[in-house]
Formats: sequence, structure tokens, C-alpha cells
Amino acid sequence: MAPKSFILSNARIIDGTGAPAYNGMVRVEGDRIAQVAPAGVDIIGAEEEVIDLGGKVLAPGFIDAHTHYDGQVMWDRTIDPVALHGATTVVTGSCSFTLAPACKETVPVIHSLFLKAEDLRLANYAEIVDFNWTTFEDYLNLIRDGLAVNVAPLVGHTPLRHFVMGPDAQKRTASAEELAKMCDLLRSAVRAGAVGLSMSFLDTDENNVPIGSRWADEHERTELARVLVEEGRGVLQTNLCFGPGSDPEGELDQLARISLATGVHVEALGCFAATKTDPVHRGLLRKVEEVQAAGADVVLQTTSKPFDQFLQFNANFFVFFMLPVWQDVMSLSIPERIDYFSDRSKRQPLKDVLEQNGYIPRFMKSAEVLEAQSDAIRALEGRMVTDIANEWGVDFLDAMLDIALKDDLQTVFALRGFSHTDPERLTEILTHPYTRPASGSDGGAHVYQFSTSGDSTNLLSHWVRELKIMPLEQAVMQLTSVPATEFRIKDRGVIAPGKFADLVVFDPDSIANNPVERRFDLPDGSGRYMNTAAGIDRVFVNGRMVVSEGAYTDERPGLLV
Ligand SMILES: [Zn+2]
Repeated sequence: MAPKSFILSNARIIDGTGAPAYNGMVRVEGDRIAQVAPAGVDIIGAEEEVIDLGGKVLAPGFIDAHTHYDGQVMWDRTIDPVALHGATTVVTGSCSFTLAPACKETVPVIHSLFLKAEDLRLANYAEIVDFNWTTFEDYLNLIRDGLAVNVAPLVGHTPLRHFVMGPDAQKRTASAEELAKMCDLLRSAVRAGAVGLSMSFLDTDENNVPIGSRWADEHERTELARVLVEEGRGVLQTNLCFGPGSDPEGELDQLARISLATGVHVEALGCFAATKTDPVHRGLLRKVEEVQAAGADVVLQTTSKPFDQFLQFNANFFVFFMLPVWQDVMSLSIPERIDYFSDRSKRQPLKDVLEQNGYIPRFMKSAEVLEAQSDAIRALEGRMVTDIANEWGVDFLDAMLDIALKDDLQTVFALRGFSHTDPERLTEILTHPYTRPASGSDGGAHVYQFSTSGDSTNLLSHWVRELKIMPLEQAVMQLTSVPATEFRIKDRGVIAPGKFADLVVFDPDSIANNPVERRFDLPDGSGRYMNTAAGIDRVFVNGRMVVSEGAYTDERPGLLV
């Protein structure tokens, strides 16, 4: 029996290659695109199902290139809400964090890494993600069924290191023997389906010790990258270090040397503009131009979204990760934190470090009291902390801490558009040839602090439709064929006969992010910030419709790719 076929007619086809849009129709047969025809050429067979797209855009499904859905996929096979934003493939395991390989001794380390660095502090994380696997292959076998979208998994360098080196992973460089073991494990992970390796220059564990990946030397990183290339994959993803004393440009130099030595493609997060005059992103753009000119295959991941953040002193906040005195306080239990903040004599060092680094004016001054738990401060909801501080005649940080303390630290402060907002700087970043706009969503991480959904939606609505910083065709290319090529995801990312039928139908005139909401649908009943999209009508994964009229169908055709 021939595979089921149907026609998507009356489409405005943007094929993902950057070529101009044109009107036409597409035949899908089984999981593949069978035929593409421009307007005027009729390919509709007798009694064939035809879906009229009403002139809307038909594009390849988007690839969400930097996510942390490794945990979520264990309890939510739809990986909500990525498909609602038109994504048909997500790259998981970024920033050196994956749930495999794992053994009894390393499971606690992996748990605490996801809790600390990716802020997935589920009350019962260990019950929900109860490690039934050892190798990366075992893990992939557990997640491969029932997926709504495709998953392109990276292997994390940090669990790999812990698996081989035990606690020494956070103490020293690897011996030749240990490195050989890591290379073997990586090789089998890649053969089992991993698309690449992720590393980190950034994160620390719950005791503020740099995580395993950061203890590697350049030789180790190079030899691991070599395995990827030998196995015909070739993506090395990493985050760069920011904050006081960091050297992201030096890290780019090292990554460039690794790329030149091995031929590996490097995706480095991130390129962000904290303020209008922030020099960091300029330095990174100059550096990536320099290393590209020298032949290194290195690009910068970034996001099209301004940083909105929901700060709670009972959770964590990325600024606090970068500052030792704050790291110490935020590592305390909640009762200990309450005691610490209540002692006013201890606040000066906390204020000083924020002042010295300019973090209050840069990041925190936009704070508004969004949600309060106790009646004592509910009346403050909707007000700016600066105004409250003025009214109370106290310092900004004192006001913020005093509000939080009256609420057992449960108050949610909203910091809207506090960073990565300046249109000129963002235009420079998003249109740069060596950045990947909307490639740094961080999906699935930090769900208690902000919404990581809608990076691609914001690119297409705000930057392309409203500000016209690039043609729609170019933006679609950046979301489809560019990541497909760079992550070596085969036969996806373009609309052409023979390619997989991963497709999205959207209205370029109305596509938009819906407002951020808090959904209490995590397995422990706690709430995550997320947002859905408007203007994205249908999404097909491997020829089957997973989203219809903006809502999920029952189809779960996703594959490991
Ligand atoms: Zn990340």
C-alpha cells in the first residue's frame, strides 16, 4: 500500500534556503515531501486530501538549537510549548548538562547540576527523573517513543567527566587513560544518536565550585572534538563565561584553535548586549570575525528576546550566580537565607558588590512587585520597587529585601526588558553574519525565573515584521537550513522533494508571542513561566500534523535525529 499522501495547497512557500517566497503547493507522502509545485501547476490527484492554507506561509519546521528539555522530556513527551511556536526539532543537552551517562555515584551530581545551573528545583526531582540508565544509548531508548517533535541530543561533557573521573572531575585535568575512556564513551554516544558534545566555561555547582567541564584543558577539548568529526557529526556547543574577571574572547580563541585543529563546528552562547554602551558584545563580534577570517568554524548563539526575569529571593537569579558573596547567600537553605537577609548589618557587602558592578542600575532597577503571598504586602502588587524605596526613605536593595522578608521570600519581582533590549545593538547582533539569531532560547531551563519560549516567534514578529531588520526568507533560513546544516541534521530544514515533511504554517502578519503566563503543570505541582504563540496554525512533524489551529493533536511522530 502506498503511504498516505495529502496536498498543502494555496501556500506561500518559503523553502528555508533563503530563496524568495513563491505561491504553490506541496505533496506530502508518508513522512516525506514528495512534490513541490509553483502556482499554476496542478499536482492534485483524484480523491486526494487537500488542505487549503489560504495563502499563509509554509516553511520548514524550526529548529530550536539550544535547549535544556532533557528533564522535561521525561514527564512531557510533547515538550510543550515548542511545537506551538513552530519548532519541529529541538537540540537538547546544551551547556554540558545531560542526564547520561550516569552511574550510582554520579547521579546526585547530575541532579544537583540540573537544580542549580538550570534552575529545575522540583521538590521530587529524584523521583521524577529516577535514573534507569547508564549509557547515553540507554537514556535515548527511554525517551524515543511518543515524542511530538524531533530531538537532536547533545551529550554533556560534565556527566561524561564525572562518569570517568568521579569526584576528581571537579579537581583536575584528565589523565591520558581517562581521556581515552571519555573518547570511547563519546564515540558510542554519537553512534547511538548524539549530534554532538556540549561544554561549559560558565557554571558552578551548588558549592560554587566550577562544574566538571570547566576543569578540562584545551587538549581534552580538542581530542573530544576530534571524535565527533571522525564519527561524521561535528557540533561542539558551549556557553562562554561572563561577569567579573571573565575572558569570553580568550575562550573564543581557544574554541577557534579547536575548530581549526579538528574541523569541528562550534556554537558558542552567547552574544548579548546588556546596555546600549556594553562593550562585551562588540568585542565578541570582532573576535568571531577574526577567527572566521582565519578559517575557524565558530558562530555565536544569541536570542532575539529581551531579557525579562522573574526574581524571587527563594529561587535564584543569574546576576547572583556571577557574584561570590551572593552565591554564598543563595546557596543557603530558605530559613538560613531569611536569617541572613534579616540581619541588616550583613547587607552592606551584598549592596557593595551590586553597586561596584553596576548591577542595580543595569539589571535590578526595573523591578516591579508582581505577586505577593502575604496580606502584609499584597497592596504593593503592581508597584515599582524604586517608588516604594523612595516612599519608605530607604535604599533600593533594602526595600526589595524588606518586601521579600515580609513574604517569606516568596514575592515575585518582575524585571521586564532589563537587558538585551537596545534596538540598535540588537539589530547589529541579530543581523551579524556569524551570529545565529533565535538560537539561544535556553528552552526548558530557568522555568522559575522567566519564559524561555518564543525566541523564533519574536524574531519573525518583532524584528522581521515590525522592525524589518532582515527579509522573512532570511529569518526562516536562520531557523531552518542553517541549524540543520550546522548540526548535521540530515534531510531537514528545507522544503524540497525527498526531504522529511517537517513543516510549519504561519501568518506573517499576525504571528506573535502570547503574554507570559505561569502554568502549574510541573510534576510536583509547581509553576513554570511559559508562553504560547498566535498566528501559527499548523505544524507537521515527519508528515503528521502535531498542531492544528494552534493546538496539539494526538499525533506523536517525533524521532531522534
Ligand atoms: Zn544553556
